[in-house]
Amino acid sequence: MIPVSESSVQLPADKTHENSMENSWQILLKESQISPEALIKELELPETYLEGAKAGHQLFSLRVPKPYRDRMQKGNPYDPLLMQVLPLQQETLDVPGYVQDPLEESGSNPIPGLIHKYKSRVLLVGSGACAINCRYCFRRHFPYADNGLSNERIEQVVEYLQGQPAINEVILSGGDPLATPDNRLRNLIGKLAEVRHLKRLRIHTRLPVVIPQRITDELLEMLSESRFKVIWVMHINHANEIDTAVQNAVKQLTEQGMTVLNQSVILKGVNDSLSALTQLSETLFDTGILPYYLHAFDPVKGASHFDVSDQEAIELWHELQKELPGFLVPKLVREEPKREHKTMLLY
Ligand code: SF4
Repeated sequence: MIPVSESSVQLPADKTHENSMENSWQILLKESQISPEALIKELELPETYLEGAKAGHQLFSLRVPKPYRDRMQKGNPYDPLLMQVLPLQQETLDVPGYVQDPLEESGSNPIPGLIHKYKSRVLLVGSGACAINCRYCFRRHFPYADNGLSNERIEQVVEYLQGQPAINEVILSGGDPLATPDNRLRNLIGKLAEVRHLKRLRIHTRLPVVIPQRITDELLEMLSESRFKVIWVMHINHANEIDTAVQNAVKQLTEQGMTVLNQSVILKGVNDSLSALTQLSETLFDTGILPYYLHAFDPVKGASHFDVSDQEAIELWHELQKELPGFLVPKLVREEPKREHKTMLLY
């Protein structure tokens, strides 16, 4: 294993994706679908990876935007960004204990597009699309087609929320809610604003990390005009995911007074080391993002090779506490089916 994380934590320079129209976020999103052959060629990886990549791609398609690919080290199959997106032969293994719906979300799905697990908040499947397909995703088998938010379904969601006065927060998730064009987002947020007992809007997204151009003036305007308190929860697993374009995108959010948090997943070979997690927290904070959650791996079918035992995760977390000030240590949690809150992993 090449210890890439230690050697390459300096922020790579932004590669001028920002200005030319040709690279607007929607074009980058469209072009994020790439074949295993093209990715292996572009990143100068050994041909021996092709067969496995094709097999994994059949199960869950390969999708990685160019700005994110540009942060990877060429010729390095162990690059921590590449390892999150490169399909592998291991995905075809049927490993006991790794299932299609590890969080049993189908049991908390009262109406299409809405997941209601907790007392005061609900999650909306803002989009079934993502700009990047993360191989470890606990929703890689999620029935997005049955949960798309059409205008009609948005009306159903509003009706449902009107009847739930205890709910004061909506989490826009997915898929990635920012894969939705601004005009549709504006419509959704406008409809939600009709529900007077809603106070906060949380946006769970990877888009500003993988396509920083997604932070458009229209999006900023729409969110700052809305009556909601807006909280962003980014999904960043390694310091190398943050370059100057990501820093600039986050700066636009914090300059609008919006809170930006981060949740990561502890992943074997990606960030399961003290130096990687320390550097992640430091780089997040330098970027204006507060480390919030470090999730234990959800045992999803096709991704068992990412699993880190709770014992290892807890030991690493205790080391992190010695290394960092408290405000930089994310909470180590596990999401468990049918629980009314996340479980802190401690001993
Ligand atoms: S839902 Fe999130 S974790 Fe899953 S593939 Fe999309 S961006 Fe990745």
